[in-house]
Amino acid sequence: MSFPQLDIYLNNISENAKKLRQELELENIKLTAVVKGFAGDLRIFKAYQESGIQSIADSRIENIKKFREAGYRDEVLMLRIPMLSEIKEIVPYIDASLVTEAKTAELISKAAEAAAKVIDLIIMVDIGDRREGILADNLEGLAQKIESLPGVRLKGIGTNLGCFAGIIPDQKNTQHLINLKKKLEAKLGRELEILSAGNTATIRLLKDQQLAREISNLRVGEAILLGTDIINQSLIDDYHHYNFRLQAEIVELKEKPSNPEGEMAFEGQGRGQIIEDKGLRRRAILAVGKQDIDYHGLYPELEGVEVLGASSDHLITDVTDAAGDLEVGDILTFKINYSAMLRAMTSQYVTKNYIE
Ligand SMILES: *Cc1c(COP(=O)(O)O)cnc(C)c1O
Repeated sequence: MSFPQLDIYLNNISENAKKLRQELELENIKLTAVVKGFAGDLRIFKAYQESGIQSIADSRIENIKKFREAGYRDEVLMLRIPMLSEIKEIVPYIDASLVTEAKTAELISKAAEAAAKVIDLIIMVDIGDRREGILADNLEGLAQKIESLPGVRLKGIGTNLGCFAGIIPDQKNTQHLINLKKKLEAKLGRELEILSAGNTATIRLLKDQQLAREISNLRVGEAILLGTDIINQSLIDDYHHYNFRLQAEIVELKEKPSNPEGEMAFEGQGRGQIIEDKGLRRRAILAVGKQDIDYHGLYPELEGVEVLGASSDHLITDVTDAAGDLEVGDILTFKINYSAMLRAMTSQYVTKNYIE
């Protein structure tokens, strides 16, 4: 064994994927499994394939290439609106892409023609979260532009919420998107094949039977991987939760004053932190750090352990209230959130331990 180690529960992930796919099928919604959270790991990808997923989305061409080279033949959606500089490289590997810029659509059109294929384009509309997306007033212009280009097909429109401003998908903003699609269809004189919504936060509407039936595609990542919904701060009922677990080793264990001593630079490394004086506390330092995890997303499994912070290679915890006798060399385990999972999967220093 080599630490830090990430235990990955493959069956749970596969079962979550299958369950979601089936639930959505009942509503005539196609699931696009967003696989950007695990850095192209082929063992995890296999768990998705076993669940019968036939449409995936990733934001990195490196991952998409790996999946194709491992024999995946079904639909691939480029999830991040592409860089102009990568379009030539990605077009041979993808079936569809999200877009918001005319220039990007033009280059995809050129590359698609050169590769003798047709790429489906989905225009992302910003209905409030202020990450990627064209504003409603400019939607028709871009749509008409795409209609005029060879090698690409306007497949529909979509939106993404929750990721930047934390705006929650609800009936009101969903209805706004539906109206935009209808208006656009009237202008174009044809129906658009899909209305693509995301992400995990939208599942809540599905469960409450409030998801508009006009939605025909859902892009979901977190719910499958972790069974959690960070935006609505909830666990998704009947799903396997926290399918990744971090194990890290204690390298120092000492009673120390909780209060720092000396002149503080930029209020504690510029983080504006206020350190509460709790007197003498028992501290465990673990050999895992910001290079490997996002410490804000660590939930200790041993009761009484509190994560205080991290530097590049060290995690600082307070174990004063932890049960049992901890020793240097002991392993502490943590459930982790999406952001910590992302970092752990990306770090070459974290050993991956697959559990079937
Ligand atoms: C990441 C992402 C998703 C999936 O989000 P989850 O919260 O992981 O379900 C969907 N759509 C877009 C555009 C994304 O970037």
